Amino acid sequence: MTHRKPFVAGNWKMNLDRRSAVDLVARMREHLGSRTDVDVAVFPPAVYLDEVGRAVAGSPIRFGGQNCCDEEAGAFTGEISAAMLSDVGCPLVLLGHSERRHVYGETDELVQRKVGVALGHGLEVVLCVGETIEEREGGKTEEVCRRQLTAGLSGVAEGDMPRITIAYEPVWAIGTGHTATPAQAGEAHGYLRGLASGLYGEGVASGVRILYGGSVKPDNVAELMAVPDIDGALVGGASLKAELFLPIMDLGKH
Ligand code: PEP
Repeated sequence: MTHRKPFVAGNWKMNLDRRSAVDLVARMREHLGSRTDVDVAVFPPAVYLDEVGRAVAGSPIRFGGQNCCDEEAGAFTGEISAAMLSDVGCPLVLLGHSERRHVYGETDELVQRKVGVALGHGLEVVLCVGETIEEREGGKTEEVCRRQLTAGLSGVAEGDMPRITIAYEPVWAIGTGHTATPAQAGEAHGYLRGLASGLYGEGVASGVRILYGGSVKPDNVAELMAVPDIDGALVGGASLKAELFLPIMDLGKH
């Protein structure tokens, strides 16, 4: 069986300030030491990327943008390009987050173009997919996951798949405290891996990490991580405080 190293990422959204961002990564850095059993990343607000990049330099902590533009450069006021993320040293970008899809109206096609541009600039992509509560209750969870994943990956060559991480984030679980049960998450993760296998073959699919996101906390991370197809966590609210995020980085084991 392919070993997939656990990956824990914090999505800070539009939170923290310069001081608290730097303090938080300093706590994470100290806690992690030179451990290599888990990959850890943060997605700070864009204005703090440079500063966070300096604060994590030389540590195993990686960082990335929360979004990028689907265009290369030019008259796109307020946007940030994949080239700029790469220029400030970001290895990663988060794309297709539910807040981008549902608050800012990003379509599958837009997310797909962003994935292509990001990969073109050498970034690794964390591609988020997940259904709303109405879609789940309407029996459409698999249909939505299939549509979002196949669109997001539609321009991705097999050789680029090692730079893709999938995040299953049911919208009803994000920021609500209603975490998916390990069984619900496991079912969706298994389905997503099956889709990846259909697209790229089992060898590629078994190497792809699929993170769960949606109200992950120190007291539920261990049971989620015990599910075979769950390879890590994408964490919003609980990534903002060291006392919550450090135990999640430990996967609830300590
Ligand atoms: C997220 O925004 O990606 C997320 C999972 O948020 P929370 O952990 O707060 O539910």
